[in-house]
This record gives sequence, C-alpha cells and structure tokens, in this order.
Amino acid sequence: MLIVMDKNATREQIDNTVRAIKAMKLTPVPVPGSQRTAIGIIGNTGPLDRASFLVLDGVKEAIPVSKPYKLVSREVKPENTIISVGNATIGDGNITVIAGPCAVESREQCLAIARAVKNAGATCFRGGAFKPRTSPYSFQGLGEKGLEILTAVRQETGLAIVTEAIDHSNLELVEDVADIIQIGARNMQNFSLLKRAGRSSKPILLKRGMSATVDELLMAAEYIMANGNHRIILCERGVRTFADHTRNTLDLSAVPAVKSVSHLPIIVDPSHAAGRRDQVIPLSRGSVAVGADGLLVEVHNDPQHALSDGPQSLYPEQFDELMKSVAAVAASTGAAG
Ligand code: PEP
Ligand code: MN
Repeated sequence: MLIVMDKNATREQIDNTVRAIKAMKLTPVPVPGSQRTAIGIIGNTGPLDRASFLVLDGVKEAIPVSKPYKLVSREVKPENTIISVGNATIGDGNITVIAGPCAVESREQCLAIARAVKNAGATCFRGGAFKPRTSPYSFQGLGEKGLEILTAVRQETGLAIVTEAIDHSNLELVEDVADIIQIGARNMQNFSLLKRAGRSSKPILLKRGMSATVDELLMAAEYIMANGNHRIILCERGVRTFADHTRNTLDLSAVPAVKSVSHLPIIVDPSHAAGRRDQVIPLSRGSVAVGADGLLVEVHNDPQHALSDGPQSLYPEQFDELMKSVAAVAASTGAAG
C-alpha cells in the first residue's frame, strides 16, 4: 500500500500517519518526492484495507501496489531517482560512464588507466579489490592493498570509485573507500549481503544475476531499499543463454522493461555481456539507444597481461572511440552524452 499525503499536509499530520501505521504493526517507509509526501507500507503479509488509512487526517490517497516489489516501483515514486557521487550524476538523462580494469593489479596500472579514462570523459573509476572468480586458483584480488590503491586514484584524479564487496566482512572495508559499492551478479540473491548493503550510507550498484529475471533483480533491489538505502543503480550485464558467440547474452530489453516499472536508474555493462572486446562498442551504442543511464566498461592499459578479463578489456584508444561513438548516439536520441 502507498499512502499519498495531501500536498498541504502538515508535519504533524504526516507524523500522526506514520504513528498510526506503526500502531497497526506495519512498517512505514517515507519516500522522498518533490511534489508531495508519500509513505510506502511494508511488512504486511496479506492485503490491507484502504479505508483504515483514508480516515487519517491529511491522507489524500491509499493506493494498493500491484507489484511484489513496492519501494522500487514507479507506482510508489513516479519520478526518476537521481544519484549524485563526486562529479557524476546518474539518472538525470545524461550518460554516466564508469570505466577501469576488472581488477586492481597495481598503483601504476590503476593510475595509468584512470588518467586515460578520465581524459576520455569517464566520471567514475571501476576496479575490483575483492574478485569473485569462478576458479579458486585464479587471482582473487589485492584485497585491502587494492582499496588503498583506489583511494590514491580518487585523490589523484577526482574520479568517483566503484568497487565490489563480495561478503559481509569486506563490505565493511569497501564501504569506507568506495563512492559506490558494487554487488556482483553472483551475489544478486545473497539476501543477507543485500540487507547489509541496505544499511550502508553509500549508493549500491546492483548487477543482474546471470539467470535472474527482471522481477528478481527488482526484488533484490527491494531488499536493499527496505533496509533503508534508497540509492541503488541497477546494472544489466548479460544473462546466460544457449548462444555461445558471446560470454553472455546482453538483454537490452531489460532497460525499457525496468524503466517502465521502476524509478531506479539502470546502466549496462557490455564488457561482461560480450566477453570479447570487439563487441563492446556496438553493444554500448545499443545500450544508449535503448535508454540506459550509463555504462560500466572494462579498460586495461595492457590487456594481454591482465590478471582477469583481459579479452573483454578495451585498450585506452578504443575507449576514446567508445566515448565519441556513444556521444553521437546520445545526441541523436536526445540523451546528453
Ligand atoms: C565485474 O564487474 O568485474 C564482475 C565480476 O561482474 P559480474 O558480477 O557482472 O560478473
Ligand atoms: Mn571483470
């Protein structure tokens, strides 16, 4: 249920409504909005009676929410969520590009890549200090040393830092350093990690699981929001299908599908979708054309020797070309590139 307060409702009427909802053993979640105050109700196990809310002073409407997710839905918040970090603003109609290596390997590697992607127009730097690898024998990331390198990258370049937390203990560490905390595809339904991310003060970049439906992605975001963190950026990164000409199949239809039902921004990761660098630019162009709010792109200064995901990492010159190409598409669709 969504309670919409009258636009002239007083602070006292809003507080009384919150108290009345709590007295019914339900959880009120105020949803920030520019025009009016709305209060989402969570915690009910069955349908609620609208009449019990409509009698409260200052309540204009009580709208049953038809979707299993509530706080992330457009029914609850019609206007787009806009998230600002550092010099980046995500969800305001411009294309935000987050770029960097798959893994933090060294200070020199990160600084060289960070300078290159910044010059090309990226506003956020990505790089994993904790890596979720398919094989236990593959490079697992530099851990805390990697986080120190990321801090240096922010200091030297001013780029906002996006890095992944793969469990509770490293979320605590990542939270101190990251401007945006990434939750990877493999953890999209790690519900205890999602709840912890919901208690973080940092925005969360939530990647779609490789076999997750759009509704499951939105329910995962709902876990984060229900725990108090409203700053969530969704990310389509390809799903697993029978197709074997790419690492995953990029589901571009997820972008308009998410936008029609949710107010959250959604970006696309063409690198993990493709698994090979020759497809990254065309898929980026397609992503912008279907309305993505941004891109997450892997770039490496020496991809032949990268410790992870070298074959899908762009050379810095290719990243330059990507930025120009994407700006042209954005201009033609009306998005600001
Ligand atoms: C990554 O961004 O490097 C990564 C591991 O991505 P995903 O979780 O989408 O596989
Ligand atoms: Mn990677």
